[in-house]
Parts: sequence; structure tokens; C-alpha cells
Amino acid sequence: MEVGKVPKLNLLIFAVGVGYALWHLKATGGKFFPNGMKGMTKEERIALREREAATSRLVHAHQPRATGDRPDDAPGEPQVHVIYVVPADVPDRGVDTSGALATSIASWQNWLRRESGGATVRIDTYGNGRPDISFLRLSRKARDLAALGTQLYDTLEALVVRAGFDDGSKLYAVYYDGVGHDACGVGGEGKRIVANFLQTKAAGIPCIDYGLATSPDDPPGYLDYAMLHEIVHQTGAVAPAAPDAGPLNHVRGDTADLMYGGGDPAQRRTLDAKRRNYFNPKGLPGGLRNFAESPFLVWPAP
Ligand SMILES: [Zn+2]
Repeated sequence: MEVGKVPKLNLLIFAVGVGYALWHLKATGGKFFPNGMKGMTKEERIALREREAATSRLVHAHQPRATGDRPDDAPGEPQVHVIYVVPADVPDRGVDTSGALATSIASWQNWLRRESGGATVRIDTYGNGRPDISFLRLSRKARDLAALGTQLYDTLEALVVRAGFDDGSKLYAVYYDGVGHDACGVGGEGKRIVANFLQTKAAGIPCIDYGLATSPDDPPGYLDYAMLHEIVHQTGAVAPAAPDAGPLNHVRGDTADLMYGGGDPAQRRTLDAKRRNYFNPKGLPGGLRNFAESPFLVWPAP
């Protein structure tokens, strides 16, 4: 694939699900104990569930539409700002205002909080904790953008920045209502945006069949995981020197890992379960990119 020539561009391919081990998420119910919750006291687990409930309450509120960035709850802090981006000729599905994207964010944040032992991504919020989700209508048509192939990522980045989303302390997380190039999402080290592709079924990859979580309490869907996967890529992980490093800054072997490039779309994911490739709050050997130290992460006060 052409992207192999561009080492800093990491495509989340998440190819068509392999047929074995179709381990459905809901089947495990409440019995599943995420990695980060092991070793927690009962009180810590209760506190964690209360934070989750607070997240859930926020996403149910209908939001007014905003085409720009609202006044920040945390000005100047490194944070991830979510944008719903729609090509010129694609119907506007209103997922920025309906709560659908807020639900997606809450779903992958709840997963991350459990897997990491408390950390979440600092999402750009306004008005005391509401996710600040912007809307951007592009002047270019979906087919023209899809025809860009591997150049789609750089073009989307330029269009988003040119539209005024150019705060150097922010990473822009784009839910793009169009077709991606051979992938369900895209992210690269040091890029200004990461994106997932809400319509990539048309490219022969059924990302949308396992799409977005419909409740904050649901496990993430494929595209929810994809967004977080790309945010991890933006920090440069997985470093090629990591013990289980695979191609294009992914891990190899463990198909359930968040940073595996592909795998079964219905599979529940884990966050560097061995704590040796890209996530370890206690540190990783020199040179390995550690998402636990990302400036975009927030840890609860001890
Ligand atoms: Zn990837």
C-alpha cells in the first residue's frame, strides 16, 4: 500500500472482520473486568462509576449548532476538539447536535477510563462540561475528496485549519461524513487533525456496520475505537522499538489491542494489556512513546 512510503502516516485499516472468535460485546455483560480496574478498591470502583454517570448525564442534552469554537472551559490546556465535517453534497445528519457524537465520545472515554485506571482525554468543553462539538460544511464534494486517495488526510487537515480550527494547543478530532481511503480512520504523529470516516462502507470496508455506540454505557463501536486509536497515533505511538511493534505504528499479535491495525470489528479491545508497548502510567523504557504521558490525558486527583 502506498502509505508504507510515508512512515509518519498511520492508517487504521481495521480490515473486514476475521471469521473466528466472534465474541460479542454484550455477551460478557458486567462480568468483564477491564485491565485498569484490576487492583482497584471497591471505593475506587464506585468513584469511577460515578464519573461515568456524570459523563452520561451531559451527553443527553441537545446542543445548539456551532460553526466555530466556543469559549473554553479550560483555556490554554492541551485538549481535543471534536468537529462534525460534511462534504458539500452529503446530507447533514445533525449528529453534532443530536447527542450522537457526544455519545460516541462518552463511550470511548468510559472505555479508556476503565482500561487506563482513571485517565480520560481532555475534551474541549464549554458551559461547565458540555463537549464543544463544531460543525463544518466543506465546499468540496464527497466524490472529489474520496478521489484524493492517500492525499485525503492532508487535504482534510488543510481544510479544517483554514476554516479557523487552528489553535496550536488543540488536536482536532474529525468525524467525517464521507468515505475514507482504505481505512476507517486516519491519524499521524504531530498532525493537527485525526479523523474517522462515517461512510467507509462504500469503499468496501464495513466500518459503519459496527459504527458508533448508541449509549454512553455501551462498549465502543468500531468507529468509536477508531477515533481513540487515531488520537493515540497522533502522539507517535506505537514506537517501532516497542517489544510488540508491528507495521505502521501498530502492535502485532494481539488482535484485541486498541492499536492492532485491523482485527475483528465486534471484538472488545484492550489498552496495551502487557503495559509494555505504548501505555504504562509507571513509565516505559526510553524512546518508547507512552500515551500515559500524553498532554491530552487527564488523570483524577490522587
Ligand atoms: Zn492505526
